[in-house]
Formats: sequence, C-alpha cells, structure tokens
Amino acid sequence: MSDAPQVSPLASIRSRIAAAETAAGRPPGSVALVAVSKTQVWDHIAPVLAADQRVFGENRVQEAMERWTPHRGDVELHLIGPLQTNKVRDAVRFFDVIETLDREKLARALADEIRKQRKALRLYVQVNIGQEPQKAGVSPAEADGFIALCLELGLKIEGLMCIPPAEGDPAPHFAALRDIARRNRLEKLSMGMSDDFEAAIAQGATSVRVGSAIFGSRSYPPA
Ligand SMILES: *Cc1c(COP(=O)(O)O)cnc(C)c1O
Repeated sequence: MSDAPQVSPLASIRSRIAAAETAAGRPPGSVALVAVSKTQVWDHIAPVLAADQRVFGENRVQEAMERWTPHRGDVELHLIGPLQTNKVRDAVRFFDVIETLDREKLARALADEIRKQRKALRLYVQVNIGQEPQKAGVSPAEADGFIALCLELGLKIEGLMCIPPAEGDPAPHFAALRDIARRNRLEKLSMGMSDDFEAAIAQGATSVRVGSAIFGSRSYPPA
C-alpha cells in the first residue's frame, strides 16, 4: 500500500463538477463524469475504479478492448476517438456509447451492425464546432441534415459531442453546440475536458470527458 493520496485528483474533479453545477443553477448530479483512460497504465486506473468511478472514455477500439475486457462488466465505456468502418463490428459489440458519429458512411455501417447485433447502442453526433480543418465532426451547417439522416437510418441519437478549438474562449463554441442540440430536440451534450469542463457545464454540458486532470499526463501521445 502506498501512502500517497491516490484518488485526490478524482475527488477534486468531482467537487469542481459539483461546484460548477451549483454555480450554473443546475441540480447536483446532472453532469456525468467520463474518465478518459486512454493510454493510461492500469496502476493509474485501478484507484479510480476503486473510488467508484464507473464511466470511462477511450479513443481506440483495440486498446480499449485490451485494457477493459477483464473488467468489462463493471464499467460503462464510451468511444471518444475516430471510428473507422472496419472497426464498427468490434466497436458496436464492445462499447456502450459511441460519441464520434461524424459521417454518412459510418452512420450506415453502424445502422447495419446495430441491427445485426440487436444492441441498444447510445450514439452522439460529433460536431466540428470550430470548423477546424484538422478536426473530425460534421460542420455546424451540416449538423441538422446529418442528424435527420441518422434518425431516418433508425439510429438512436442521444446527443452531441464537440472538441472546441484549443485557443480562445470555448464558451461560445459550447453555446453553439447547445443551440444545435436544442433545435434538434437532443438532450445530451458531451463537452468539456480537463482545461475547460467548468465552462462547458456553465453552457449546459450533461457529461464532461476528463483525462489528464484525473490520471496525470498521458505516457505516450494519442493518435
Ligand atoms: C483525450 C480526450 C479527452 C480528455 O482530454 P484531457 O485534456 O486529458 O482531459 C476528452 N475528449 C476527447 C475526445 C479526447 O480525445
């Protein structure tokens, strides 16, 4: 046993989330914490699991399966990284939530596979809210049409996800995502990471994806 207070970063994030909920006049517990465990060694994850964190985010299908297969029954897993259509079968089988639905080809592949596996998979459409060329996601202008297409394909869209530009104030981007969700009658907003989750909660985030602030910096760069 180590004497180090291993779960204190998690406890600190939890209390900051609670404070941000209160500051925004939102009920306690209205914001879910997705602990982003990508690239982390199990020694960093185990204490977080032991502290009753049950929702985790991963950005690669294969890596997630290797890390979580022994613990699969204990956790809810979110795919938050890009999904290639050749990984759709594994992703549908393994994950509870896919947050990175961002193109028609993927929507069609997911619809087929969900039908085959008869799985109640929860989906988020990723919006490239800052319209950055290097980022995945449908453009804000295409979002309404893309959401409509997904619904026509029989997909259950739970909400929207975004990663705002690294530079500048993220609040207007979070507000823009909220507006797209509202006009499409989607209730859930996955937005906010280690550096900006409080701003996201102020703009209506229903889940925040926090990695390095819980686990420390990642040991190798995510692709
Ligand atoms: C890595 C990642 C996160 C977590 O980022 P941190 O800054 O470490 O909190 C959140 N969302 C996505 C999509 C990511 O890829």
